[in-house]
Amino acid sequence: MSWNTAQIQRDDSAHYLHPFTDTAALAKTGARVMVKAEGIFVWDSEGNKILDAMSGLWCVNMGYGQQSLVDAATRQMETLPFYNSFFNTTVVPAVDLARNLSEVTPTGFTRAFFTNSGSEANDTMIRLVRHFWSLQNKPEKQFIIARKNGYHGSTIGGASLGGMSDMHKQGGLPIPGIAHIGQPYHYACGTDETPEAFGLRAASWLEDKILEIGADKVGAFVGEPVQGAGGVIIPPPGYWQEIERICRKYDVLLVSDEVICGFGRLGAWFGCQYFGYTPDLILFAKGVTSGYLPLGGVMLGARVGDALVAGGDFNHGFTYSGHPVSCAVALANLKLMHEHKIVNKVATDTAPYFHQKFMSLADHPLVSITETCGMVAGLVLVQDKATRAPFASDRSVGMVCRRHCFASGVIMRAVGDRMIIAPPLVMSHAEIDLMIALIRQSLDATAKEMAQ
Ligand code: PMP
Repeated sequence: MSWNTAQIQRDDSAHYLHPFTDTAALAKTGARVMVKAEGIFVWDSEGNKILDAMSGLWCVNMGYGQQSLVDAATRQMETLPFYNSFFNTTVVPAVDLARNLSEVTPTGFTRAFFTNSGSEANDTMIRLVRHFWSLQNKPEKQFIIARKNGYHGSTIGGASLGGMSDMHKQGGLPIPGIAHIGQPYHYACGTDETPEAFGLRAASWLEDKILEIGADKVGAFVGEPVQGAGGVIIPPPGYWQEIERICRKYDVLLVSDEVICGFGRLGAWFGCQYFGYTPDLILFAKGVTSGYLPLGGVMLGARVGDALVAGGDFNHGFTYSGHPVSCAVALANLKLMHEHKIVNKVATDTAPYFHQKFMSLADHPLVSITETCGMVAGLVLVQDKATRAPFASDRSVGMVCRRHCFASGVIMRAVGDRMIIAPPLVMSHAEIDLMIALIRQSLDATAKEMAQ
């Protein structure tokens, strides 16, 4: 099929406001038009084949072109495309999915609340946490502590929880009752501390904040197991255990935002299992359907779940909570994950191979460090490898590198000077080899341009 790229780009800039985009700047270059996908590749309207090392947006975990997901959606659309779960009614795919999710989440997580996105999962969490503490006769436990540079979505609640200052600047955020502590980013702190010592210190910032606000006013702490949109910030060993200990000490609920880390991304069903902590609530989205349809939600551990059920009406919900087609696709996706034993395969084969290959990029003259955790990875671009001195910020090395990645046929995301990827879980060794070769080629091209 041939496409009129220029016309699509004109219509795009005239009518379509993109997320997180400078519309006027995009109009000058025109958007890249993605038209089809198969396996780990996407094609644009000019016929370029590009290896999608970001899995769409951290979501197409099982890769493109999975016919069983398409068939599940078609069957459900033909049978019952929609019905709500508001007025003492239910739909079978939502029931089956809630039960299936309880089988892959930690013990006690027997109940699911469904949303359409990760942002709505975070907003739902705020309402759940505050309602829970009211039911406990502690209505003053309203504060939720999150982290600077964390990402929890773009709704008013989600963006308030997130620690992105550029988002807070627009729309008068954060809302009251949200506080932030520093992120556990060892490289950026530039000290001689061991990662373990730094991890304990970073966790202690939570205790400081709880004491500052007053434990009787703090309802929950929320964090991503590995911070994704903030640049794949992998916490040091021991950090999460210490966070869990502090939460338990002050009776603060622990919320794991698994929108990126869930569904095998780290080589465990959920990031909390990978790092070995037990949260009270798990937030999910993205990988639950491999991105084929919008779906998110909250899995409730026994403490909050039992209290909520005993507490009467929870006055919260979305028209599409438990949408039957999204849930049917999620069920097909879980089935596919089980059939491929994908979580175990990632843990024992794909992620270790990926780690070895990605770490080999550390010898590149532009790269100061490389890090991976399961199937997410990041590297830092520097001007001087020996001193780790960064490029001047107006030279936007990350953006230069992202452009060269596209030109070389691989998609990486730039977060400042950090280049990050979250490739599909279904990658073969040969595909990983190809991806690393394309990244190296892009780094070479970036180095050449930055030297000019
Ligand atoms: N939480 C985390 C950890 C995320 O990474 C994201 C999206 N990248 C969200 C929440 C928001 O999800 P959505 O874009 O589906 O609203």
